[in-house]
Amino acid sequence: MQTNNRKENNVILITVDLEDWFQVENLRLAYPFCVWDACEIRIERNTRELLDIFDDRGVQATFFVLGWMAERCRGLVKEISERGHEIASHGYKHQLCSALSKEVLREDVCRSKALLEDIVGRPVFGYRAPSFSITEHLVEVLGDAGYFYDSSYNSFALNKRYGRANSLFHSCNSNLMISDNGIIELPVSNLEIGGQTIPWGGGGYFRFWPPRLYSWGVTKILHERKLYLFYCHPWEIDPEQPQARQLGWLGRFRHYVNLDKTLKRLEQFLERFHQNSFISCQNYLRCQDAIPTESFNQVAGFLTH
Ligand SMILES: [Zn+2]
Repeated sequence: MQTNNRKENNVILITVDLEDWFQVENLRLAYPFCVWDACEIRIERNTRELLDIFDDRGVQATFFVLGWMAERCRGLVKEISERGHEIASHGYKHQLCSALSKEVLREDVCRSKALLEDIVGRPVFGYRAPSFSITEHLVEVLGDAGYFYDSSYNSFALNKRYGRANSLFHSCNSNLMISDNGIIELPVSNLEIGGQTIPWGGGGYFRFWPPRLYSWGVTKILHERKLYLFYCHPWEIDPEQPQARQLGWLGRFRHYVNLDKTLKRLEQFLERFHQNSFISCQNYLRCQDAIPTESFNQVAGFLTH
């Protein structure tokens, strides 16, 4: 991977939720957990395409890896880590946190953390909830399980799957929040215009909006906050993936809009913003003075064992 020698003030955090096409919440009815083993795994080729464009552009990203997928693609997870990216957790079974009891949630986040650490031989610091379904229990469980940060808060209020957990945190600075039990929250970026929140963090919104308009919004966010946190998925660059039947028009639109254009758009996006620093969430947090040293030392101590 190229080293990013450009030292600008603005930081872009590229994050990838590492799950395959059939594991998306939107398709849960068509592909419940019990049929996952029968579905075609397409994640390896799609992820390697992402890794190649990240290499070309000097991007260090954070991959929030689903435990179920990591068990079946251990070599891919290892490769991502060896190519200089951060491995973080996306839980094990991709169930909404809001639908789980505290004990089941605890088992899910602990299982995925242990599994990923076993594969890459390094501590896992971060977690992202499926569909940004952050809850009070999640923050508590993450603290108990030894996570350092979370990136599950999305301030767009109109998506009912997204958790409303901002009251669980106090502001650390304009981009970070912290909970009483020391979990740092790195929220997904959105656009604020006239008191309204417009989803602008990536995923389907990145595929939907025209690229020039999208770039305008990102420029505005960077101007105001000096940080932009983006998310995407390997299946979003795969127009050849199997098509789910029995999906309503909205679900179909959400999942399939512009899949054939996304890889190109992503390359253009990285080129358009190449003067910014693309670093992992972990490395961004390490640079922030606002992080309480006792939290950091606690995790850093783990590194030395
Ligand atoms: Zn997900």
